[in-house]
Amino acid sequence: MGTGKEYPGMEPLLKDGLLVVLGSGESGVGAALLGKQKGYEVFVSDKGQIAEKYKEVLIQAGIPWEEGTHTIGRVLQATLCVKSPGIPDTAPLVVALTQRGIPVISEIEFASWFSNATLVAITGSNGKTTTAMLTHHLLVEGGLKAGLAGNIGNSFARMVAEDPHPCYVLEVSSFQLDGIRRFRPHIGVITNITPDHLDRYGNQMELYTRSKLRLAENMQQTDHLVYDRDCPVLSEHISPEGMQPQVWPFSLEEQGTKGAWLDQDMIYIQTDNTEMQMSTDSLALEGRHNIKNTMAAATVARLLGIRKESIRQSVANFQGAPHRLEKVLKIHHVQYINDSKATNVNATYYALESMTAPTVWIVGGVDKGNDYSALMPLVREKVKAIICLGVDNTRILEAFGRAVDLVVETVAMSEAVKVAYKIAERGDTVLLSPACASFDLFKNYEDRGDQFKEAVKAL
Ligand code: ADP
Repeated sequence: MGTGKEYPGMEPLLKDGLLVVLGSGESGVGAALLGKQKGYEVFVSDKGQIAEKYKEVLIQAGIPWEEGTHTIGRVLQATLCVKSPGIPDTAPLVVALTQRGIPVISEIEFASWFSNATLVAITGSNGKTTTAMLTHHLLVEGGLKAGLAGNIGNSFARMVAEDPHPCYVLEVSSFQLDGIRRFRPHIGVITNITPDHLDRYGNQMELYTRSKLRLAENMQQTDHLVYDRDCPVLSEHISPEGMQPQVWPFSLEEQGTKGAWLDQDMIYIQTDNTEMQMSTDSLALEGRHNIKNTMAAATVARLLGIRKESIRQSVANFQGAPHRLEKVLKIHHVQYINDSKATNVNATYYALESMTAPTVWIVGGVDKGNDYSALMPLVREKVKAIICLGVDNTRILEAFGRAVDLVVETVAMSEAVKVAYKIAERGDTVLLSPACASFDLFKNYEDRGDQFKEAVKAL
């Protein structure tokens, strides 16, 4: 059993007894494995079905589990509960646990109790995965033994249990932050805050914002917070005077003396009295949003002492993540781009902004109450045809029906891609950037992007 002595300050939360893990996805299984390793009695309870691969892991580790139900009597015997980020705080079982004074925490909180590693935690509405992967790449290429965890690939807890590293880059969602107590990144990055997942926050932007800002709530003066100063929400809430950590803004719009900024085609990064420069032309990732992501990642790398030359080389040879402005194929001089991960308007905004050729735009899916007006100028300027791909396309037709000459409705990816192929002419781009969630026609955004790529390859 982990004792408070090993983890000073954690005494009230590290009781002997039963660790109940609610939800058995990547983070739940990771927390269960770590809990077992640290001597807790562990019980995993999932109201849905547990994936076969996770069942096998639990069985192998000798961890009891249930699926399809929560046995309330057993769950309420917990001394500590780690809850999957997918379960809202308002779920009756979570309310019952909290009312009994049983701490309900997130997996990143739990994992952080058992690691003394340097933590770089990255959150934001868009750009988390790209920034986390790029940051990890810069650190590893620069010689640090950094692990990449969180919403990407392995959970933080599982890595701490099975593959400990001296440093982690963590992609962290607001749901994970809702369950922290003492989680303290040494470097935090907030890429931006725009409306997303508001259904989980009572449709209140302020609550969602506060949740993201919890990233910094336990930071100390020796810690660092890197953030997008161009984001109105962040610049309103973050100021050097009002924060414990040292703050490092990055900006495309304003030049500065600290953090990162742009002057013509040069990126400047100023940390701790040293400055580095690199040209935007050298970046492997395209699009203005990726200049921001690069600024954030390079600032972190500089704060961790990575050499300038190593950073310059690494931003040039970085392979981007799939489904994010991913170039698929060029067919008859038409470029096909998969941006299936654009599940909200802001992400699609940056995709359209980065288009340099007339664009046939495949858009649609489950509309989360989108306001499309921000896209209108870009659509007028860049889009020659719209292909709607969703069960209900009413909102898209309403928003853009009159802005674009050609609008076609489709209900399957193969059909959408065939129509795009017919419409697109030499020199055009076909862009899948749906601005909507995928689960009307697809399993998830990966499935949507994979189907797009297959359909393009089959042309
Ligand atoms: P997240 O992990 O936060 O969902 P990703 O890196 O997976 O972010 O990118 C999601 C979508 O947002 C992609 O379509 C991508 O092109 C777009 N995007 C990436 N970085 C940014 C950014 N800094 N601002 C706005 N959109 C972005």
